[in-house]
Amino acid sequence: MHVISYSVSSYEIPYFQSENRFNHTFEFIEESLNARSIEKIKKADAICCFVTDTLDCFVLERLKQRNIKLIALRSAGFDHVDVKSAHELGLTVVRVPDYSPQAVAEFAVALMLALTRKIMRAHTRIRQYNFSLEGQVGMNIYGKTIGIIGTGRIGSVFARILAGFDCTLLAYDLIENDACKALGVTYVTKEVLLQTSDIISLHCPLTAQTQYIINEKELSMMKEGVILINTGRGALINTQALIHALINKKIGALGLDVYEHENNLFFADRSDDIILDEQFVRLQSFSNVLLTGHQAFLTKEAIQNIISTTLENISFFEKGIVKNFV
Ligand code: NAD
Repeated sequence: MHVISYSVSSYEIPYFQSENRFNHTFEFIEESLNARSIEKIKKADAICCFVTDTLDCFVLERLKQRNIKLIALRSAGFDHVDVKSAHELGLTVVRVPDYSPQAVAEFAVALMLALTRKIMRAHTRIRQYNFSLEGQVGMNIYGKTIGIIGTGRIGSVFARILAGFDCTLLAYDLIENDACKALGVTYVTKEVLLQTSDIISLHCPLTAQTQYIINEKELSMMKEGVILINTGRGALINTQALIHALINKKIGALGLDVYEHENNLFFADRSDDIILDEQFVRLQSFSNVLLTGHQAFLTKEAIQNIISTTLENISFFEKGIVKNFV
């Protein structure tokens, strides 16, 4: 099949080449797909998209007009796709649901440890030959209560890693995961999790039900000095409420790999730009906030799995089989 691939980063191209056992041909486009770039689209059988691509009704209709049959997502999350419109238009959307839950879970642990042991400030100080330990007192994970919201693929790996820290593991999910229960995870209500956890990590998808699952009310229920980690999706948390909770010192430390308004910000070098996103700039101003640019998935193992599964998904579709359907 001839595939146009959007939002392609240079680190992906070698994997497209090494994993292409199927003789698909690819056109790589660095730009993301949106209402403007869709007008330039050339003839293709399928398009291949990342989380930065906009797949709303307008774009989907134009893809349909251009005879595109398949949208192969290079991501697990699909909250950037208007799935209802895609189905109504008869467009097939496939994704990579399980490329490396370890990559994301390990990154969430990395954010957690960097915050509990103040690694960012230690690094900055040492570079300036400041060896003072003032303000560097950290916190053990051992003996603490960790709350996990969403115990699917990533949340359950996160629980397995955390089990080694000898802490109490609480979880909130619509579906209880037996593997987590076997690790000693206790399922509780969202309220109990919020009220009793020292550290809370979010691992549920962004849906209409989970948007702002952490809002003003939920933040007010949390323990003073709680550590909050989000590697799920930015809009799981209301950023304005989060900023208030940081100002009020309700939140002791915050680790975000995803940000509510990341779409026009992340995945590009903006070091020469004037950043107009006031909320992001405000978040940056807190010394107890660690922000990363949606890179929790980014390991070589994960990229290889993402590209290889994407190529397989395209090949199955070519043979009339739909795998990893959204
Ligand atoms: P998954 O589908 O395996 O697990 C999600 C879990 O959330 C499920 O157990 C589900 O029951 C639960 N859930 C759904 N709605 C809920 C609700 N209203 N309340 C509580 N729990 C709810 O998904 P996964 O593979 O573990 O991925 C989780 C999310 O992580 C993805 O949807 C994606 O948004 C995000 N993600 C982020 C990155 C990154 O680089 N930062 C990479 C991959 C995935």
